[in-house]
Amino acid sequence: MTSRPDLEAETTTSAVPASENTAPEELTNTRKVFVRTYGCQMNVYDSERMTDVLAPEGFKATDDMEDADLVILNTCHIREKAAEKVYSELGRIRKVKEARSKSGKEMMVGVAGCVAQAEGEEISRRAPIVDLVVGPQSYHQLPELLSKARQGSKIVETEFDIDAKFNHLSANAEKPVLKRPPSAFLTVQEGCDKFCTFCVVPYTRGAEVSRSVAQIVTEAERMASAGVREVTLLGQNVNAFHGEAQDGTTWGLGKLLRRLSEIDGLDRLRYTTSHPRDMDDDLIDAHRDLKTLMPYLHLPVQSGSDKILKSMNRRHTRDDYFRLIDRIREATPDIALSGDFIVGFPGETDQDFEDTMDLIRRVEYGSAFSFKYSQRPGTPGATMDDQVPEDLKSERLAQLQALVSEQQKAFNASRLGMTCDVLLEKKGRNPGQLVGKSPWLQPVQLDAPESLIGSVQAVEIVEIGPNSLFGRLNAGQDERDDAGAIQAKAG
Ligand code: SAM
Ligand code: SF4
Repeated sequence: MTSRPDLEAETTTSAVPASENTAPEELTNTRKVFVRTYGCQMNVYDSERMTDVLAPEGFKATDDMEDADLVILNTCHIREKAAEKVYSELGRIRKVKEARSKSGKEMMVGVAGCVAQAEGEEISRRAPIVDLVVGPQSYHQLPELLSKARQGSKIVETEFDIDAKFNHLSANAEKPVLKRPPSAFLTVQEGCDKFCTFCVVPYTRGAEVSRSVAQIVTEAERMASAGVREVTLLGQNVNAFHGEAQDGTTWGLGKLLRRLSEIDGLDRLRYTTSHPRDMDDDLIDAHRDLKTLMPYLHLPVQSGSDKILKSMNRRHTRDDYFRLIDRIREATPDIALSGDFIVGFPGETDQDFEDTMDLIRRVEYGSAFSFKYSQRPGTPGATMDDQVPEDLKSERLAQLQALVSEQQKAFNASRLGMTCDVLLEKKGRNPGQLVGKSPWLQPVQLDAPESLIGSVQAVEIVEIGPNSLFGRLNAGQDERDDAGAIQAKAG
């Protein structure tokens, strides 16, 4: 695995699927919205919610930009050149807008997400085709903002009122839903108070806020009744979740997962992204106790050097991380561990880098995501001395990725011959083929009838490919162990 796909602004380009939660009568005056999503899963979730809030206004999602009455770029600011990429995309959109205008059709353009938050008014100044700029905490106001923009005002809305957004989304969550894909995201926490010295999140997403337990449960129940079988709880620091329950107490993520595991129809729960400091015993025990909680944990450490961890303000040591991993593996021996690594943070010496490689060798990851350090304006790391030259960062990144790739191959190979539960999610590339997900988040391809999409099936892993596993439906097997994930080798 070379890099984290959910952070590849330049490659993660997709329109969200047509919203399926709109009553047909609301679509009589249909307009089309094209949303391009960059960045993390939280942006994917936000893009889906944007199409939800626009649906009652008569907007239907399209994946053809030229056919869209409204184009929204939902942007990511985590690494450099993000803003420049948005401006060059806006240049391309300008041509489409002009072509539509010649044929008498309107096209409004919005920029949402973290670049919108960071750049604000600068966006409409540099790209006059932009009608509205909406920060990540304001998109629930899209209908009103859009109607103001249609009257000719340039709109820039970058307030940090996360509570208002969550309340609005929860009100929306009570509306009936027709059908949704088997796997979905659910944001439970946003923002961050940790201020790692390399990271823009506390500045673009604001302070840490958790949704209430009732809001989350309502949304999860609604998802289950709409056909969702797997929910991934999202947060920039998801395990720092501290949501208020109806009795006034505060729940951590472990307790929330226990409650969600009681919802009928939700077969699988996941969460991402976690910080080592917030991995408490209750959450570790939940992995041991809950059959629905998948044996996969993304727990970024960023560096294996105590000196660099300190300078990154991560507030833990490498030994703390090892002890944590031991506790997690004791509770869930077969868990797949994943992480994020940054190479070339200011001051990183050969020895610091070797400490990171040593940590990776000791932990043995199932997968990991790695990045060259990118100087983010406004963060303390950007002005630190001893910035590491780009060619050295590239060299270190290549070495680290080679090691992780070996570990990933070994982890995948260890699944050969096992029978495991696979959630069948969609059609594959070839006729008769479906694609699903193993408990350890690996894609699994197999021949199976389309009618099984949305179900969890026992699948025997018969071949290991570079990026996915290949399986065979294991009809009749019913010998899953208590973890519900895996049974003895098939033979
Ligand atoms: N909250 C999580 C944590 O504490 O590990 C990480 C969330 S962050 C949005 C996702 C990942 O982006 C980080 O784990 C880090 O590896 C990477 N990242 C963030 N800022 C970066 C930067 N300035 N340069 C390179 N990678 C960066
Ligand atoms: Fe960024 Fe994660 Fe650090 Fe928060 S904890 S500042 S999101 S890397």
